Amino acid sequence: MGITILRNASVLDPERGELAEGQSVVVDGGRIADVGPGLAGPDDAAVFDAGGRTVMPGLIDAHTHPAVVDMDVFAAAEWPPSYVAARAGRALEGMLARGFTTIRDVGGGDFGLAKAVEDGYFTGPRIRFGGKQLSQTGGAGDWRAPSRRVYDDNYYSPAIGVICDGVPEVRRAVREEVRRGAHHIKVYLSGAVDSPSDRVDSTQFSLEELRAIVEEATAANIYVAGHAYTSRAINRGLECGVRSIEHGNLMDSSSIPLFKEYGAFYVPTIVTYHTLAAKSRDGQLPADIAAKLEEVIDGAIGALEMAHAAGLPIVYGTDLFADMHDQQLQEFVIRAEVQPPADLIRSATSTAARLLRLVGEVGVVAPGALADLLVVDGNPLDDIRVLTTPDRSLKLIMKDGQIYKNDL
Ligand SMILES: [Zn+2]
Repeated sequence: MGITILRNASVLDPERGELAEGQSVVVDGGRIADVGPGLAGPDDAAVFDAGGRTVMPGLIDAHTHPAVVDMDVFAAAEWPPSYVAARAGRALEGMLARGFTTIRDVGGGDFGLAKAVEDGYFTGPRIRFGGKQLSQTGGAGDWRAPSRRVYDDNYYSPAIGVICDGVPEVRRAVREEVRRGAHHIKVYLSGAVDSPSDRVDSTQFSLEELRAIVEEATAANIYVAGHAYTSRAINRGLECGVRSIEHGNLMDSSSIPLFKEYGAFYVPTIVTYHTLAAKSRDGQLPADIAAKLEEVIDGAIGALEMAHAAGLPIVYGTDLFADMHDQQLQEFVIRAEVQPPADLIRSATSTAARLLRLVGEVGVVAPGALADLLVVDGNPLDDIRVLTTPDRSLKLIMKDGQIYKNDL
């Protein structure tokens, strides 16, 4: 790979929330070599004129499930993993086409999927993965029907969770994911909307199990992400050292000081509830899941308002699965009710990079960073909606210095 120069660019700095006009971005191999006015390169450099358009870092979605490929998640858990991987590949391709160059997989995706992208067999964003989600028996990752006794603990079953009970088992579960290269560990701190036998308002795992999970993850220099809805579940997780709270729809103000004390991140995923609600209205969801959905959907915006007012680090996440991925950019539109555009952009770039522990690598247009770049027709700092029409407004998509789309 040679040198690529994007000239005549208005470079977006997410941290400052500003555009710098008349810049050139020099890409050497997979990384950004230089950013500044009027830079030149060797004669054989590939030069593209951005025409004064916005050049910004590729987007980050920190809550995804590309490997949850069907609405009937229990049926899909019985499918061959090779078939699931093929369908996951299609989902990943769509994400990159929407401008997402990095995703965090928080359940279902694994080292094989990440490697398939890294080695170029699948086209998609780079994947930070945690493997299976840790669940207690009867917890949100236990997808057995209540009448079923046996759980297929084959790791390559496409089920989303691994069931572990008691301190020795949770330690082993974390160590297994560490052995497979996990970038983080995902744990169910409460019930979920899409699980067959638990309650959204429950807490899951004992405090000693949670402390053991965090201790094992910390030993491997990775962190724990926790799925939770109510403050009762969120606060237990934060006090045990969980670093990001996923969903949090039913959070109350008691969680805010704990987020601050522990430096934790908040990852709302509001678009998935809106999309599921549309399916529910069409009668596409089982009655018990539709009822759980009702319970969490109303709280979502209120939780976001509270977190935003408190200045918590808020990260972009969507939690879409199956055929819902085309809504991935709508989370921006929903959150725009509460957050200004610059905050929304940070949530999907620089703040997400902090959560993923990839500061300086992604979420920034600066020398030394990975060359993940978007050329956008329009200024998302003025109107975030320009990001939601990628077919029209994304003129160039580059990941790791490689161009995946070029309409310049
Ligand atoms: Zn999720």
